[in-house]
Amino acid sequence: MENKHFNEKAYFGQFGGQFVPETAMFALSELEAEYEKLKNDKEFFEEFDDLLKNYVGRETPLYYAKNLSEHYNHDIYLKREDLNHTGAHKINNALGQVLLAKKMGKKKVIAETGAGQHGVATATAAALLGLECDVYMGAVDIERQKLNVFRMELLGARVISIEDGLKTLKEATTAAIQSWVAEIETVFYVIGSVVGPHPYPTIVRDFQSIIGYETKAQLDEMGKHADHVIACVGGGSNAIGIFSAFLEDNSTKLYGVEAGGYGIDTDMHAATLTLGKPGIIHGMKTYVLQNKYGQISPVHSISAGLDYPGVGPEHSHLFDIKRATYAPITDDEAMKALMLVTRKEGIIPAIESSHALAYLEKLCPVLSKDKRETIVVNVSGRGDKDMHTVFSVLKDKETGGKNGIYELNGGLENE
Ligand SMILES: *Cc1c(COP(=O)(O)O)cnc(C)c1O
Repeated sequence: MENKHFNEKAYFGQFGGQFVPETAMFALSELEAEYEKLKNDKEFFEEFDDLLKNYVGRETPLYYAKNLSEHYNHDIYLKREDLNHTGAHKINNALGQVLLAKKMGKKKVIAETGAGQHGVATATAAALLGLECDVYMGAVDIERQKLNVFRMELLGARVISIEDGLKTLKEATTAAIQSWVAEIETVFYVIGSVVGPHPYPTIVRDFQSIIGYETKAQLDEMGKHADHVIACVGGGSNAIGIFSAFLEDNSTKLYGVEAGGYGIDTDMHAATLTLGKPGIIHGMKTYVLQNKYGQISPVHSISAGLDYPGVGPEHSHLFDIKRATYAPITDDEAMKALMLVTRKEGIIPAIESSHALAYLEKLCPVLSKDKRETIVVNVSGRGDKDMHTVFSVLKDKETGGKNGIYELNGGLENE
């Protein structure tokens, strides 16, 4: 049900809005009002900045990847969000929202999680700030991410297994929204990406904009200008975070990389902007992967953080106005990039981030050979959580499975 009182701030072009039951409207209005107040509250942001610096470990380096730069003949910089406490960019947003919840006098936070990363980040922030925490997670993801489940429980959170549908992030999100609406007075819903009804896409973007803000300042200090900025897109928070500082300057090209899964000519992918159509999902109007009857399609990605059939509404707008380019990268291409960056730089990126890194293979060959361009890739997280997936892909090779692309001891296929 759309908000009857049209709220201009709720939209990015035609996307966004508040498509939620009447009972949730109250909580969204309360959140919007509180956030508007706190946004200008010096004390709140001093506390937040202090946590980002001394707890999360910001700022994160903008690392000149010398070996990759040599490999691609362009200057490649990696924004090292993988070095954050808990291993990814998600902590920036989780801390911001849990701090907001605390200031609003809430006793409990709830969250949905796919890869487990947002659940871990929220459970971490809740432990630190002394709030109760329930995490909703699809049963399939619980199985895929056992270690993260244990981590959340160790941090004191309750992990609730969702058995509906495909038992992944989409169903977990629906369950989290339902339980939030049921306990709306006392519970704060911590959303993990730039998705959901207004004001969430704006709040999450603001908390993640530190990535872009730092990157821009780090480049300025070196006297560099970003010609290209690449990030992976699940819901789109790390991408919006880094894009935000460059949106106004059209001389910086922006690329959002989606999960191409087994390939976009199959139905096993999560390439929402490449193949989706406008629709409604999780309280927002945005591009959605759907069949001809408007039913949301099942999605696949080798990375649990990218297999979402929707995308943040601001990305849908940036796609429509062509300010950013969106492209798919397959599971295999992402794993190859993971291997390349690991062997060239000694950095094991998350499989999500490896999608962004794989885009270098598409971009660099079409750039001018006469001029070295400056390319920033956002390394949204570290690969530790993915070791069992990487391991099984490598094992697959040994047993002749179709996913195998590498010889563990022989290095990269093409070298
Ligand atoms: C969750 C996750 C993503 C995808 O989420 P966005 O909101 O699109 O940023 C990407 N990378 C890592 C490491 C993640 O954990």
